[in-house]
Amino acid sequence: MYPSVLLQVAGVWREACGGIAHPILNPATGEEIGSHPVAAQADLDEALLAADRGFKQWRAVSPYERGQILRKSASLLRERAETIARIMTIEQGKPIAEARLEIAAGADFIDWAAEEGRRVYGRVIPARGPGVAQLAVREPVGPVAAFTPWNFPIVQAARKVASALSTGCSVILKGPEEAPASCAEMVRAFLDAGVPADALSFVLGSPAEISSYLIAHPVIRKISFTGSTVVGKTLAALAGQHMKRATMELGGHAPAFFSDADLDRAVTTLAANKFRNAGQVCISPSRFLVQASVMDQFIEKFVATARQVRVGDGLDPQTTMGPLAHERRLLAMEQLVSDAREQGAEIRLGGGRFGNRGYFFEPTVIANASLDVRVMNEEPFGPIAVMRPFYDVDEAVAEANRLPFGLAAYAYTRSMSVADKLAASVECGMISINHHGLGLPENPFGGVKDSGYGSEGGSEALEGYLVSKLVSRTN
Ligand code: NAD
Repeated sequence: MYPSVLLQVAGVWREACGGIAHPILNPATGEEIGSHPVAAQADLDEALLAADRGFKQWRAVSPYERGQILRKSASLLRERAETIARIMTIEQGKPIAEARLEIAAGADFIDWAAEEGRRVYGRVIPARGPGVAQLAVREPVGPVAAFTPWNFPIVQAARKVASALSTGCSVILKGPEEAPASCAEMVRAFLDAGVPADALSFVLGSPAEISSYLIAHPVIRKISFTGSTVVGKTLAALAGQHMKRATMELGGHAPAFFSDADLDRAVTTLAANKFRNAGQVCISPSRFLVQASVMDQFIEKFVATARQVRVGDGLDPQTTMGPLAHERRLLAMEQLVSDAREQGAEIRLGGGRFGNRGYFFEPTVIANASLDVRVMNEEPFGPIAVMRPFYDVDEAVAEANRLPFGLAAYAYTRSMSVADKLAASVECGMISINHHGLGLPENPFGGVKDSGYGSEGGSEALEGYLVSKLVSRTN
């Protein structure tokens, strides 16, 4: 049921030079389900040569034709969704319904980039003298190295690969070693649709070795990374050292404000997004800042809603929350909860491992945590909601902005003035008010402060793969 995982270099699906492979585990059972090749330097060199050739070939294809090929990739992904969804659930753990939605979203991102790539315009700049033409033209930046994580094996990769390909760049994609097969199927869809083999390679291996080699290499002109802030800062520093452009989509610790709003609607939407993908989502609501007068009702309702979450193997259609994707997250959850408990916070729901097989963790609600508690400062990246009361909006804004992160924020309020104040003063790249409105392909997606820079959505996403050139001419 689980396919063999191979590298894709210069049009060939193959094992790594040197033949080293690492195991892949099913997070629902902890059992080995396969292995992935570990790329050697020789594989990377071959991928770099291909990316260089592929860039020259692909940039010469018209944006119209590139768009047609990308749209076909999206259709192939949709046609193959059921098979790929099962693969994703087995390797990553998420419920099969979420895997299906992710594949549909990946296809949607590819369609968006396919269309938007046809609208990359330059401009004519009025000249100072007669007979002079001044054109600002937009060109693809060049071969891209993209590094994508395991939480959304297809969507995270689709955002980068589709944006890069739509502008005429070639790509070496380092996929997620812990959930590589579904990501590889996305690569297959691009190639089957007609993306030239040299324009898209897929490698796996030791992340640090691959990134340090590719970022420093002169063929690579741009890097894009999604993952933790700590790794992002290392890669951004390396990119700076080698003068490479970079997009960084890093961690967050999203504040979710609740004041005077419809409690049922707010809790239903926030809880669904808290426990989606077992909380392993960079925009997951994670610090719940609740007006003190309604704190008790909010917690009660949230706990009751969280109790409805059905934890289990993602292949069971009844499951609404699968395991964490690997053991590291399970250990991280246990440490965050025990720290909160030791520092006097109340564990109002869950707080422990679920079952004794696989990496399941209970939906967890923590109240009355002081600001020193680790989970008030570190992104949980798991199914933990931590809640604190606030007495006035300025205090809530100060708490939201206290941390170095600035990715997503949420607010539920009936007051237009509170909504306006939060929209204007919360330091974040995205704020969604009275609904969950983040993550659509047509909208910008990215952070500020330690959450990174650049965008992974909207027309802004393509900007990251373009450079401007001035052409000033006269006869
Ligand atoms: P990690 O920091 O070891 O790795 C995060 C991701 O970066 C993984 O995909 C990993 O393969 C990759 N990576 C690690 N070192 C790298 C390097 N030197 N070069 C290139 N890629 C590298 O952490 P983890 O245990 O895998 O995940 C935990 C943390 O990562 C979470 O706390 C979360 O903050 C962050 N994360 C964020 C996202 C996101 O969507 N922004 C996704 C996955 C993980």
